[in-house]
Amino acid sequence: MCSDTCFLKPDIVCPGIPINWPDDLHTFFMSFPWARYHDGPDRLPFTVDITVPRLPRARSKLCSHLTIREDYPCEECGEVYAHVYHLIDIARNPKAHTNYHYLGLAHMRDILVKKHADQVNQLKLQACNDSCKYMYTLTQLDDYNRLVMAISENDIPRIHQVINIALRNGASIREIVNKLEDALEGVYQPRGYGASDLDIATLVFRL
Ligand SMILES: [Zn+2]
Ligand SMILES: [Zn+2]
Repeated sequence: MCSDTCFLKPDIVCPGIPINWPDDLHTFFMSFPWARYHDGPDRLPFTVDITVPRLPRARSKLCSHLTIREDYPCEECGEVYAHVYHLIDIARNPKAHTNYHYLGLAHMRDILVKKHADQVNQLKLQACNDSCKYMYTLTQLDDYNRLVMAISENDIPRIHQVINIALRNGASIREIVNKLEDALEGVYQPRGYGASDLDIATLVFRL
């Protein structure tokens, strides 16, 4: 109770300022640049009070803790509004070159997710390339095997000519071997290769 001599208002404690983080951004926790919450060179000039998580508050690091009007911040805390707006601006329009220090967790997460996705795609592409090469090599080996088999298992007249003509016609190993096999089937079924002047080379490239 005041005595008669107590004419001064009692000191009012500075309440700091509310941080009105906009709804169109990620939550305050996810988009506030916590990386700058320190005392280093790019430090924020205020501290944050998240006692009520829905209603975060800020207090200037220079807060006098006393103020003249109830519910009004001290002069130093009053200047924090501009800093918060500035941070909201950065959070809303992060530039490609914005240092991650100035971004919130949501942005860092997005960057990491994107990097990860890029790496996964890179690896997938690499794996695909590798398996395509592998498949191609296998197919080629298979073609060569078939050619060797066709030649070794069958007495093909003028084999040199057959292959020469084929190569001159720009045929691939597979084409050669396909035609050889077709020809051999046709040739050997009816009468064996008794038909002496049968020219497989001609036969092959008529097919
Ligand atoms: Zn203050
Ligand atoms: Zn600022």
